[in-house]
Amino acid sequence: MARVNENFLKLRGDYLFAEIARRRTRFQQEHPDAHVISLGIGDVTRPLPQAAVEGLKRAASEMADEATFKGYGDYQGYRFLAEKIIEHEFAPRGVSLDVDEIFISEGAKTDTACFQEIFDTSNVVAVLDPVYPVYVDSNVMAGRSGFPDESGRYSGIVYMPCTEQNGFVPELPRERVDLIYLCYPNNPTGATISHADLQRWVQFARETRAIILFDAAYEAYIRDDRLPHSIFEVEGADEVAVEFRSFSKKAGFTGTRCAFAVVPKKVKAYASDGSAHSLNALWLRRQTTKFNGVSYPVQVAAASVYSDEGRAQVAALIDFYMSNARIIVDGLRSAGLTVYGGENSPYMWVKVPGGMTSWEFFDHLLERAHVVCTPGAGFGACGEGFVRLTAFGSRQNTEKAVERIVAVI
Ligand code: PLP
Repeated sequence: MARVNENFLKLRGDYLFAEIARRRTRFQQEHPDAHVISLGIGDVTRPLPQAAVEGLKRAASEMADEATFKGYGDYQGYRFLAEKIIEHEFAPRGVSLDVDEIFISEGAKTDTACFQEIFDTSNVVAVLDPVYPVYVDSNVMAGRSGFPDESGRYSGIVYMPCTEQNGFVPELPRERVDLIYLCYPNNPTGATISHADLQRWVQFARETRAIILFDAAYEAYIRDDRLPHSIFEVEGADEVAVEFRSFSKKAGFTGTRCAFAVVPKKVKAYASDGSAHSLNALWLRRQTTKFNGVSYPVQVAAASVYSDEGRAQVAALIDFYMSNARIIVDGLRSAGLTVYGGENSPYMWVKVPGGMTSWEFFDHLLERAHVVCTPGAGFGACGEGFVRLTAFGSRQNTEKAVERIVAVI
């Protein structure tokens, strides 16, 4: 008799986005003429940068020619892409990495979900609250939690409150934690972390022999020169941290799929006999068993993003979304709302006015403004009282949505 992995039975349903879709569909059925605008989506809407498209075409032609055809590539990704990543993303910030410390993948979702596999199930996981749910659910599936309570918090997982009071950067945990997921710029709050705060976390991880799993999927949106783009800008982080990056939000690759994990050779975790083991070696072993690489054309497209034209096109893309963010932040603030984020991030974390819950405000905006947002409570207990808006819409829809929201608050 085949038995299921009962950890999967602990998972709450995909409540948040399913419930949003259900409420939106019902509203649209009752009001077929209403033009509903979504500022809830976490997906990009602008097309791929032209340099990436040219790269895809060029590589597709190579695949059509016997002389240049490529079969399986390296498990870790092509060297030409890893070299460009190091040259443009890390070297200018004083971070020196070897190409075999970069693992090209098809997505930061896959990487952040799967990296926990190389750690024992007895590790205590700490996450930010509110949180990108992938970190939690993947650890629940692996057996690092008990069941969820009514607020959706799983027993056995340490939730670190991110609030207005702490600037959405939590205090260091007082209890034992072993695997710490940090995400900055943050989804959903749009908050960033300073060099000094990141240094405190690195110091904490060094003292407690914990590992920081640092998700920097939104790094390209950082505008403030003082903010770190990579955890490896902090001294000593290369012994206790792993970083996840993505081309999804940086270069419109959500449907093209390319990302990478940075796993320094110095970062180690321990076996029960106390021996230290390289995470780089373990992750390589895992990838060579379970992953056969990202397609050649996609890796060429990702490398093309670093050409002169590519970098200019990416900068224009980010500018476009950040102008949307400005419109949302300015429009809502001038109407008296409290808005966080949006300055170094495509996400705005808006405080719900008038004592409503985040779902009540969601319904209010849908019914009165025909605008869809994401209720903060769906990202964790500390998200209650907030909604998330994104800068990824078209300019016209963004402007219209802000006008409509302002008219109903
Ligand atoms: N990490 C965070 C914090 C995200 O918000 C997302 C996507 O929304 C991802 C990772 C996934 O990125 P990818 O498209 O590379 O899988």
